[in-house]
Amino acid sequence: MTYDELKYRQSWTLEQKIDHAAGVVSFFMGKVNGKVAASYSGGKDSTVMLDIIRRFVDKNVPAVFCNTGNEFPEILQFVRRTDNVTVIRPEMNIQQIIEKYGFPLISKEQSQYIRQAKHTNSGKLRNIRLNGSINGIGKIAERWKFLIQAPFDVSEKCCSFLKKKPFEKFQKKTGLYPVIGTMASESRLRFQKWLKHGCNSFETNMVASYPLSIWTEDDIWTYIRKFNLPYTPIYDTGIKRTGCMMCGFGCHIKGDRRFYFLKENKPKIYNHFMQMQNSGISYKEALQYCGIDFPDSINRQLQIKF
Ligand code: SF4
Repeated sequence: MTYDELKYRQSWTLEQKIDHAAGVVSFFMGKVNGKVAASYSGGKDSTVMLDIIRRFVDKNVPAVFCNTGNEFPEILQFVRRTDNVTVIRPEMNIQQIIEKYGFPLISKEQSQYIRQAKHTNSGKLRNIRLNGSINGIGKIAERWKFLIQAPFDVSEKCCSFLKKKPFEKFQKKTGLYPVIGTMASESRLRFQKWLKHGCNSFETNMVASYPLSIWTEDDIWTYIRKFNLPYTPIYDTGIKRTGCMMCGFGCHIKGDRRFYFLKENKPKIYNHFMQMQNSGISYKEALQYCGIDFPDSINRQLQIKF
């Protein structure tokens, strides 16, 4: 696939995209003898994906939802009202993961690089993380290099324990392959994945369908309006993303209001998360150290004496 191909497909009409998404899932189901389960988060994207599957492909396709313990109450209520959903749970909770591996801050990619630079025994890997590989990729961005010396860890491991592993376990147990509602436009990693395998992947370790890859956020809302589709009311409070409530990936981006929203609307949950610790440092102190704008920040400088 190419960038131009993605742009071209993203310019299709909603009807073309619905046909395409249904076709992608049908093709995938044909290849895996119908053994699929929709990965369902209760958010708008997977709600649309599940509707397309059940409305246009096969109304009996099951869904699977992972209750990470980090979900908005409105999401849990909405999922409970959805038919034929199996709820799975991770083996570790978010508090244990943070204690052991570090806070999910900056981005999946950068937190992984920082964790590796800090803890790897390989001089070669550490050098790549600090200076980049031959073509300059794979290094920690200059602005985050100070986190190598931070008195706490940041890590990308949380997604693996809270999401990836529980879904893998479910797949192993049931033999059902996942249909996932992610879009290439959401992040660089997702775009790169799409470039590599397109909307269906049959690679040995990643047999999965991604029927919404070429969709945009506008398409999702247009679909919801077109079919008058019920969705979780959390979006009507102004929140843009419904993933894990306390995830810090992207919270440094200017204008991000997730922690303000949480403090205003779910103060008990906010306080609970802010007290979680890694190496004796609380989430609140880690955010402060990173200079992130959040409700309890002092003045976005390194105010905390470590
Ligand atoms: S989205 Fe964030 S908080 Fe949730 S599992 Fe992934 S890294 Fe952890």
